[in-house]
Amino acid sequence: MSVRNVLIVGGGFTGLTTAIALAQRDVRVTLVDKAPAWARVGHGLTIQGNALRVFKQIGVIDEVLAVGQPEEGLTLTLANGHVLAETHTPRTGGDDLPPTIGALRPDLHEILVAKAESLGVEIRLGLELTSFETHGDEATSVLSDGTTETWDLIVAADGIKSQNRPKIGITEDRAPSGLGIWRAVTSRRPDMTGGIAFPTEDDGGAFKVGYTPVSDTQCYIFVLCRPQRPDNGLEDWQEVRRLMENYHGEYDALRESITADTFLNFQEIEWIFVEGPWHTGRVVALGEAVHAVPPLIAQGAAQCLEDAVLFAEYVTAEGDLEQQLADFYARRIPRIKGVVDASMQLAQWEQNPGTPDADPERVMNDALLALVPAP
Ligand SMILES: Cc1cc2nc3c(=O)[nH]c(=O)nc-3n(C[C@H](O)[C@H](O)[C@H](O)COP(=O)(O)OP(=O)(O)OC[C@H]3O[C@@H](n4cnc5c(N)ncnc54)[C@H](O)[C@@H]3O)c2cc1C
Repeated sequence: MSVRNVLIVGGGFTGLTTAIALAQRDVRVTLVDKAPAWARVGHGLTIQGNALRVFKQIGVIDEVLAVGQPEEGLTLTLANGHVLAETHTPRTGGDDLPPTIGALRPDLHEILVAKAESLGVEIRLGLELTSFETHGDEATSVLSDGTTETWDLIVAADGIKSQNRPKIGITEDRAPSGLGIWRAVTSRRPDMTGGIAFPTEDDGGAFKVGYTPVSDTQCYIFVLCRPQRPDNGLEDWQEVRRLMENYHGEYDALRESITADTFLNFQEIEWIFVEGPWHTGRVVALGEAVHAVPPLIAQGAAQCLEDAVLFAEYVTAEGDLEQQLADFYARRIPRIKGVVDASMQLAQWEQNPGTPDADPERVMNDALLALVPAP
């Protein structure tokens, strides 16, 4: 086995799943995260079948399905309520798993933390990787508490804003996608099964509005919009209501459910795709540190999870680690490129409604069908 003792920097989906998959292969894993404590923050996510397949592989699928709301597809409408189509999401994880589920990010995070801890992963919070040196078949870390330790491998899973990415020698950086997004968790009626609505005439600043059920009574809503929040004197909840004001049918109830007490989040959406090597010596970057896309086919976390398990398989096989890292990278790039290309094409069309030949449903469907075979 190429590695026995690994440091993981970052405890999001990538870091925790990598930690679990390595620990299940008898690797001693330490995970550090800069967060001083795990906070129950974050909104909903659409978790596609291929992400569920990874949750099954690492032995947490029952827990994940218990906190999620299965979905077969989406109702596409115009803002005035006119139904355009009922879509059926491809079963990217195989026929024994739902096509997708909606879930709350903190619920999934808690499941992964509990699994990692049960496997003996040492989690140290409130710490960053200050510097590292890679030499021969070892890497030495200096953490922000001043400790110096030696590992077979260091994994940077510190997300799209990774501070370790440039230290690995990766020159690509995150870039604006031209999109912004508001998100909220709010209540829904049981008959509301998930949808996306597109503007009719005046978009009011919103490219589209959608919602995904995350429990029998709750859903998360997103408003995809321009990347700058207008300085219009409105409070956040008022601004989201304004963006949704031309959206009717189910969206009337959703808009009304947003109040001054609703937890809202606005962010500009960035992207990155590192097509050059992801490692230098014994330090490697994974997950959103090297690939992140606008969430238009909801594959971000799924691709991070796929990275994690495949990576653990490669680096725990017999053989030369340098070759294993190169082979892992070569295997991942074409699959992730398909997701990046589709997501960025969709992002372009979102910003340029009425583009001749735009066919978002086909691009989305083709991109998901390409993910049905295991990675
Ligand atoms: C608006 C939006 C909606 C999305 N919706 C979906 C969706 O519906 N479905 C889907 O599959 N994906 C979705 N995604 C993508 C998904 O959220 C990401 O792909 C995934 O969370 C990335 O996981 P990660 O572990 O690589 O990074 P992160 O989740 O960013 O985790 C990085 C971790 O590293 C820690 N960290 C950062 N810097 C340091 C440091 N210097 N030292 C130590 N620790 C550090 C952070 O505290 C964090 O815990 C969405 C993304 C966005 C932006």
